[in-house]
Amino acid sequence: MKTIIIGAGPAGMMAAIYASCPGNEVVLLEKNEKAGKKLFITGKGRCNVTNACNEEEYIKHVVNNPKFMYSAIHFFSCNKTMSFFEERNTPLVVERGNRVFPKSYHAYDITDALVKECLRLKVRFSFSTNVLGIRKEERFLIETNKGMYEADYLVVATGGVSYPATGSTGDGYRFAKALSHDVIEPVPALTGLLIKEKIPSRLCNFTLKNVTLKISTKKHKFESFGELTFYSNYLDGPIAIKLSSLINRINKDDISMSIDLKPALDETTLYERIAREVEGNPTQKIEALLSSYLPSAFFAFFKDQIHLPYGQTCATFSKEQRIVFVRALKHFPLTYLGLNGFDRAVVTSGGVSTKEVSPKTMESKLVPGLYFAGEVLDVDAYTGGFNLQTAFATGALAGNCISEKILKLNS
Ligand code: FAD
Repeated sequence: MKTIIIGAGPAGMMAAIYASCPGNEVVLLEKNEKAGKKLFITGKGRCNVTNACNEEEYIKHVVNNPKFMYSAIHFFSCNKTMSFFEERNTPLVVERGNRVFPKSYHAYDITDALVKECLRLKVRFSFSTNVLGIRKEERFLIETNKGMYEADYLVVATGGVSYPATGSTGDGYRFAKALSHDVIEPVPALTGLLIKEKIPSRLCNFTLKNVTLKISTKKHKFESFGELTFYSNYLDGPIAIKLSSLINRINKDDISMSIDLKPALDETTLYERIAREVEGNPTQKIEALLSSYLPSAFFAFFKDQIHLPYGQTCATFSKEQRIVFVRALKHFPLTYLGLNGFDRAVVTSGGVSTKEVSPKTMESKLVPGLYFAGEVLDVDAYTGGFNLQTAFATGALAGNCISEKILKLNS
């Protein structure tokens, strides 16, 4: 029997490892000149390889199709990922938020462990091999720039379309469609939010801490608390990229966005505090008093957006103007223009529809012997090691189902 896996990323290599069994020749076709090109840049080169959490926690961090992941995460849990690497001479450390990294903080140690395990199991890598098309006759026929391959089992582990320079250019969607699979339109996820307002250069790369970013549509309200970073035309940082995954399938014109700059205080408390200060300092300039509420780099931008008589004294600061200030602190408005593109998106949301893939095996419900693993599937998660965990779990499950079938046939 022969199994071909397209894509030597984390999902493809894990599938190859688990598909390895007596009587199965496993070949990994990779268009790059080496394995795991995207893995090298994960976690800023440190690779947040998984999250030290249980199955339930993992599922909570999957944004699209969490239920589809039940069997895969049960088969290959976050703990299993950790022991997989630790048993292969790759010690790990757990950091804030249960994020797991190789102790060396070198992503290439993770790639190295996967490649070495593939080689130990006699998986054959064929690099610089670009798969151009696939079709199914009696066996799978795989057309590449280096000629035709044939296989009894085929795993598509080609990733999504984000950071296309790493090799993930969406080819798997084309292959899936050619075999009659439905593909949910891919959109960028875990990426910056473009805004209309021009951010002054002083504010570029500036991070607001302890704020809540709020996004609403007619039907939904989303919010996230934490750090928000400003760039010339977009918002970044943990809370912006988290929300990007929740709004990427919604029409941008239906979305309104604001920042709660003082989430710990309600409007009444804030108003009373400001009123006390205004009344206690009638000769102070309004600007001097209000600037104490915000970091100075941000206050300059705030002043451009919220028009108040900053040059006058507090004695003239009317009740209505104080309310305008309080409202702006609680609902500082920004105009959402859409998401940063795929070249800056950590993952792709969308992909091969999970409705046509068995969650218990990762096998296509339409084409026997065809499997999907990793980001090519319509499954995406938040940051924290959950996306690599998805790749490992789906890859391991797909590979294992193939080797079980072969072992059964040969018994
Ligand atoms: P990929 O890693 O994309 O691998 C797919 C492989 O298929 C590629 O090597 C590609 O060249 C190959 N391929 C594609 N088409 C063909 C073809 N036609 N022929 C042959 N080969 C083909 N996730 C985390 O959990 N933790 C992190 O720290 C983290 N950091 C990230 C940082 C960045 C900058 C980015 C972009 C992503 C990060 N991710 C992280 C997400 C994570 O890297 C991906 O979810 C994961 O790599 C997906 O694995 P995969 O095997 O499905 O796809």
